[in-house]
Amino acid sequence: MEFTTTRLEQIAILLADEIKEELAEKQGINEMEQVMRELVKETAGLGLQRAIEQGEERYAEKEVACRCGEQAKFVSKREAVLWTVFGKVDYKRRYYLCAECHQGQSPLDRKYGIVPGQVTQTLSSLLGVLGVEVAFEEASQLAERFLLFRVSDNTVRKQTEGHGNAQAQAEKGWIEKAENEKSLQVRERSLAYRSGRICASMDGAHVPLQHN
Ligand SMILES: [Zn+2]
Repeated sequence: MEFTTTRLEQIAILLADEIKEELAEKQGINEMEQVMRELVKETAGLGLQRAIEQGEERYAEKEVACRCGEQAKFVSKREAVLWTVFGKVDYKRRYYLCAECHQGQSPLDRKYGIVPGQVTQTLSSLLGVLGVEVAFEEASQLAERFLLFRVSDNTVRKQTEGHGNAQAQAEKGWIEKAENEKSLQVRERSLAYRSGRICASMDGAHVPLQHN
């Protein structure tokens, strides 16, 4: 990812000014680092909120198509919550309701693949990895140390179960791939044999053997 250097410098100056005020008398690098971490996390959360809200279409539609085939009417701007690696992100978006089937929807959520109230994929996979390694309570404490906010043991458990399912799917895929490769190797070997060359595998490296 390439960021504009001058932009980054402008942000860095703002961050440095902010922690300078925050720290005042304290001079140590440890306090400085800690405050910078908190500040970056808070700023990133707000940045994400703005980025999401900026995705709302400028001119509000009064109606949008509903899945049932009818039109959903604009109700109001509603608050929603999303759990991210920067903590809880609150944002507002336009909400529409269908009078026919009573399904509500937000085009902004759909646009970005957001499920309000849920944990993002990045946070979910981090929690899933932790939850596999240690007990849920410990995972929750570890997550707080790394991410600077607390998620419940229950959230860790839920993400770990989801992670476990994804892991099982991935492993199934690897096994299938390995089996396909094995049959491919067998086919290649028989082809090589027929063409008068045999490949022998030594420590995983294929060494061609020439027939005399
Ligand atoms: Zn509907």
